[in-house]
This record gives sequence, C-alpha cells and structure tokens, in this order.
Amino acid sequence: MLNRREFLRGVAGAAALGAAGVELLAAVRRLPWEAFTRRLSGRVVLPGDRGYAEFALPNNLRYSALRPAGIAMCKSARDVSASILWARENGVALVARSGGHSYAGYSTTSGLMIDMREMNSVSLDESTGVAILGGGARNGNVFDSFRSRNLAITHGRCPSVGIAGLALGGGIGFNMRAHGLTCDQMIASEIVLADGTIQTLTGDDDLLWACRGAGGGNFGINTSFALQTFEVGPITVCDLTWDEEPERVFASLVNTLERAPRTLGSKISAIAPSGSSGMKVQLLGQFAGTPAGLREMLADAYAIAPPSGVVTRDQYWKAQQVLSEPGHAAYYQERSRFFNDAIDHRAVAVIFDWLRRYPKTAKAAAFKLFQTGGHVNDKKPSDTAFVHRQSRWLGSIDLYWEHDTPGDTLRHNLAWLSAFYEAMVPIAKGGAYQNFIDPSLTDWKAAYHGSNLEKLEAIKKRVDPTGVFKFLEAIPPS
Ligand SMILES: Cc1cc2nc3c(=O)[nH]c(=O)nc-3n(C[C@H](O)[C@H](O)[C@H](O)COP(=O)(O)OP(=O)(O)OC[C@H]3O[C@@H](n4cnc5c(N)ncnc54)[C@H](O)[C@@H]3O)c2cc1C
Repeated sequence: MLNRREFLRGVAGAAALGAAGVELLAAVRRLPWEAFTRRLSGRVVLPGDRGYAEFALPNNLRYSALRPAGIAMCKSARDVSASILWARENGVALVARSGGHSYAGYSTTSGLMIDMREMNSVSLDESTGVAILGGGARNGNVFDSFRSRNLAITHGRCPSVGIAGLALGGGIGFNMRAHGLTCDQMIASEIVLADGTIQTLTGDDDLLWACRGAGGGNFGINTSFALQTFEVGPITVCDLTWDEEPERVFASLVNTLERAPRTLGSKISAIAPSGSSGMKVQLLGQFAGTPAGLREMLADAYAIAPPSGVVTRDQYWKAQQVLSEPGHAAYYQERSRFFNDAIDHRAVAVIFDWLRRYPKTAKAAAFKLFQTGGHVNDKKPSDTAFVHRQSRWLGSIDLYWEHDTPGDTLRHNLAWLSAFYEAMVPIAKGGAYQNFIDPSLTDWKAAYHGSNLEKLEAIKKRVDPTGVFKFLEAIPPS
C-alpha cells in the first residue's frame, strides 16, 4: 500500500491539505468499496493495488499528482451506470477516462475514475461498412482491426489516444480534408447519463448532435460509437525536414498547400531547438497521388533548400507507419487557434519572431499547422457541435519540459507561450480546438463552441442539470 504522504497526494493532488486532507483521507477509506465491487462485472482498483500506478497516470504528467481514490475498470455499459450511481450515492466526484490524453488532465480526479480501457472492441458490419467501437477503444485498436480490410475512419497518429476523446471533440487527422472529421463519421452512440440510464443515440437526437464535437466529459459516458468507415487504397506519405532557410521554406509550404487538393492532408511544423542547433521545418503529409506528383507540388520548397526524409507510396495502413507517433507521457502545454484566413508572409514573420525568442527548456518547442478545410468545411457550423467550419489551418504552439525543470525556467517559458499565443490570436481569427483543451483560456466557452454554445448549454441542462459531469472547462447547465 502507499504510505500516508503518497496517499494524501493521490487523494488531493500536490497541494498540502492539512487537517482537511486528513479528514478527506478518512472519508475515502470509509467508502463502501467492497459493496461497489459487488455491483460491477469489472474490477475496482485502489491505491496500492496492482496496476493502480499505471492506470492512474495521465498522458500529461503535469497533472500526475492528482490520483483517484479508486478506479472502476468497466466491462459494460451496466458497469458504467453502476459506477455513476455509486459515486453519486456516496458524494464522490467522477470522471471518465478512455485514452487519458486530455491535454489539461481532465480525465484525472481525486474521486472515482471510470476507466474504459477494457471496453475496446472493434467490430464491422461488412454490408454497410459501419464499425462499432467500444467506448474505450483507442486509435491502436482501430489500426489493428482495419489493417487487413483497407478501411479507415479519420484517425490520429498516436495509437494510445482514445477514440472517445478524439471523436467527441471533433477528431482531426490526415483524412479530414477528404472525408471529414471523426465526429462527422459518427452515426450513433450509446451513452450512460448522469441518472444511470443507458441510451442509444441515433438520427437527429440533439444529444447525438452534441456528441459530434462538443468535447468529451460533458454530457455522459459514451460506451460505444457507430462510425461510418470509408475505403482506402495505396497512398503517398512524406516525412520531410528542412534544416536551411526555415522561414522561407515554411512560407513556401503554406502557400503551396493552400492550393492543394482535398486528397492531400498535411501538417507543417516549425521547430525551435532546445540546444544550439538551428530552427527546422518538418512536413508530414498524406496524398492520394504519386510520389512524383507530391514532389512536383512541393517544387518551390525543394528549390529553396533540399529536404531530408522520406516520400514513399504504399498500402494505406503500411504507409501510416511513416506518420505514426508514440505519444509517450510527458510534461507539456499546447495552445491552439484556428486560422480562418490565408497565412501570409507577415503572419509567418510573427510566428518565426516568437520562435526565435524561445527561452528554452531541455526540449524543443514547435509551432504546428494542421491543414483543415476541404470536407471539414462542407458542413455548416450548426450541423454538428463542432463549430469550426471556416478554417484553413489549425495552429498550435507546443511547449514541453522535464520533471526537473527549475520553477523559474518553467515560469519564463510559460510566459513566452502565453505571449506567443496572444500574438497568434488576432492573426488566426478563429476559435480554439476543444480537443487541444487549454486550461489557460479565459474565453474558452466562446473559443471552443462559438454560436453552438447556447444549444449545448440547453442540452446539458436537460441531461445533466446538476453538473455531475464536471471539469474546469465543462459546458455548464444554462
Ligand atoms: C500524443 C497526442 C496525440 C494527439 N493526436 C491527435 C490527433 O491526431 N487528432 C486530434 O483530433 N486530437 C489529437 N490529440 C488530442 C486528443 O484528441 C484529445 O486529447 C482527446 O480528448 C483525447 O482523448 P482520450 O480518450 O485519449 O483522453 P481522455 O483524457 O481519456 O479523455 C478526454 C476527455 O474526454 C472524457 N472522456 C473520456 N472517455 C470518455 C467517454 N467514453 N465518454 C465520454 N467522455 C469521455 C474525459 O473525461 C476527458 O474530459 C492528441 C493528443 C495527444 C496527447
């Protein structure tokens, strides 16, 4: 078992709670855990149990001090329902966790963590191409199941990101310009509500509308998703890096890709190093055409400086290996904004000016542009809860650090992140991506939800009037 100090940290986070903490600890110990276990087909994992340390850890280690009082390893929607009801009966805060990749650690709690990882099945109706995914399935489960079938959904690059978080908050990926966001492919979902009822959402149910892009953790716990897949064939992928003339290359890539067909998905990163080497530009991309066609498209950037890296064509899922990222747990903050206008030379100059001013942690920082547009913008902002339907790019600034980064260094770097972000907002002109959820935002309701906010608040009031599903940036009942 954990010692008293570790347990207190687990229950109440890093803050010293004094007498209140001791009282809380005693209250947690008095909870009827054994009776709870009898109500579940899955296990309950408590501090000190095998697996607790691994299951409790979020992807963003910045929030790793907050540990759950207990973890319900759910196997079914009924387990999820029993967990919600038990937590409510005992006055315990609850939170759902699927992949644990919330940027802001919103799937951590000092109460009950409802862990969905064992509900990770993926099945396919061959006649319709509709995939049924368990509420705890991750990108990696989708990769494994679809690999032999040449089918896909819009997915991310990191195998451990949960489909629940991804799809409920939108879901961007290299397929989005050709096939829309993950949430656009959601045709039904099973959800457990705050009162423990299990509902299947289909058609024009406004709760299904809300599940298509408002963000995880707001309305209930989704225990399965029906997603319409599409066929995929051979594709060209690239992972190219330019070490010379980064600003000119970046401007050229942005300019070229603005005119690219929808069958090209891309991400451009300008990387500010941690050490003394120079700035780099990286292009990751996926294209339905040939390698020669892609190189021809990028001729202007190739003419500025030759990149290193790979351009190759292969079967869809084999080619994805070039693009995949491990997404290991780390200490970080990322801040995003949608860019609604073309990015001109003045905007690029602002971005590079801030990157040059990077105060530096032991890790590189980056400004990333995910190319949006295409099919994402074929829908109106009100068609689904995902409101950002006018953008050309999603910009994101990443700051990473180590566990032993001195406090002053971290403060200095966070101040840089904040100032860079403030400079980006007026250039970008769009909102912030609710899946790159950002605890520093003050205008988060408008930034994430824009003109859909009022409808989302009304739905929240109907399905969760007392705010059982709650976190710092949760949609409030209106
Ligand atoms: C390494 C990395 C790579 C990423 N790549 C991409 C990408 O390619 N495209 C993209 O769009 N985003 C990407 N993201 C962002 C990602 O989509 C969000 O962080 C998403 O919320 C993570 O989902 P999760 O299930 O892994 O996280 P969790 O932390 O488990 O959940 C996120 C939120 O959803 C809630 N939730 C979890 N499960 C459920 C459920 N079953 N029902 C209802 N609510 C639930 C949680 O309580 C929490 O509020 C990435 C993030 C990381 C860290």
